[in-house]
Amino acid sequence: MKVFKFGGASVNSANAIRNMARILQHNLDTPLLVVISAMGKTTNLLEKVIPGIAASDEERRRLLSQCRKYHMDIAEELLQEPQNDTFRKLHSLFEALEKTSATKPSSYNFDYDQTVCFGELLSTTLISGYLNSIGIINQWVDVRTIIRTDESYREGNVDFDTTRQQACSHLSALNSQLIITQGFIAGTASGTTTTLGREGSDYSASILSYCLNAESMTIWKDVPGFLNADPKFFNNTVKIDHIPFNEAIELAYYGASVIHPKTVKPIQNKGIHLNIKSFVDPDAEGSVIGPFDSIQPLTPLYIFKNNQVLISIQPKDFSFIAEDNLQRIFAVLAMLNVRVNIMQNSALSFSLCIDYNDVLLGKIVELLNSQFRVVYNKGLQLITIRYYNQHIIDEIVAGRNIILQQRSRNTAQILVDNQ
Ligand code: ASP
Ligand code: MG
Repeated sequence: MKVFKFGGASVNSANAIRNMARILQHNLDTPLLVVISAMGKTTNLLEKVIPGIAASDEERRRLLSQCRKYHMDIAEELLQEPQNDTFRKLHSLFEALEKTSATKPSSYNFDYDQTVCFGELLSTTLISGYLNSIGIINQWVDVRTIIRTDESYREGNVDFDTTRQQACSHLSALNSQLIITQGFIAGTASGTTTTLGREGSDYSASILSYCLNAESMTIWKDVPGFLNADPKFFNNTVKIDHIPFNEAIELAYYGASVIHPKTVKPIQNKGIHLNIKSFVDPDAEGSVIGPFDSIQPLTPLYIFKNNQVLISIQPKDFSFIAEDNLQRIFAVLAMLNVRVNIMQNSALSFSLCIDYNDVLLGKIVELLNSQFRVVYNKGLQLITIRYYNQHIIDEIVAGRNIILQQRSRNTAQILVDNQ
């Protein structure tokens, strides 16, 4: 079996979905498991209709109808038959989403997962229905019955044993040549929905590749492969043909948007090769993450993370930033499932940089406020350069205000103002 993953950008319109169908059509010689994200920017939209988050009920309804229209327009373009069973399924998903988003808020992380999961349920229902309607016969699977996590909402920890058992028993029993399922979402033992963190569909594909001993895994992207920089920020990018597993983990950890940080470990454990290929040019080589000694070609790699916030924390009493205070700070971060992108401490202050999220930032301040003075600085950019030299750094930061920087032998990280 091979595992394919298609992200939001590869299924964001009727034409994109037709293109995806063509790619599947050319790859039906071996059994395929296809993991799909929410269409386009749907997850961003759903984040705004989590119970209690929209500014007003009117706003919540406006966003929901925008989401419905986006999906229904595509469904109508792809599915000719108005009475199609797929429409019925899509309608009932929209009804359930409306209900969920209108419930009384409980905990943010729990509500988050119960709401945003609809993005993947909608995309896979629509796509599976379309593929069946054009003769690409497939089986839709609710991945929440396969990938089991604990109850860490918004960042579920995967129970690999149960997941492997469920994958083997449920998926093998289907005896299907083509399975369509959701990325990003998972289920707990008690049947509630969890998610694996933003952009987590890559990780879903990797968990399933591991559990099913996949022959290979392929992520289909809007770029030709693993580039040395995001073409959105950089003009002259270089494609990296071969990337060692560990290098890919480091790069993803620093924020290389090409893959989710947790993706590589499971496939590395089984030695499964991960291909990154272009859905625009499916016959081109792409990149391979595998058991290589070094990246090929060896070239500096740049990672830009926008929308960063630097939080500075100072004890209000006479204490220093020492182990006991750090323990308190990290307990709060762990409880909120917040990932730190860079951190630094001095005697009197601890600074950490995270992806900006209004709700979580508010909670961090609220929880630390009694013991610490907490100030923050929004709208920053974190630049990470692997295999850097001074000349490269000078060029990148020319004219920018450096807020914080750290260097190790191979990696430089620089936090700058976003102007
Ligand atoms: N739909 C989710 C997100 O946008 C998961 C993913 O795309 O991988 O974060
Ligand atoms: Mg995505």
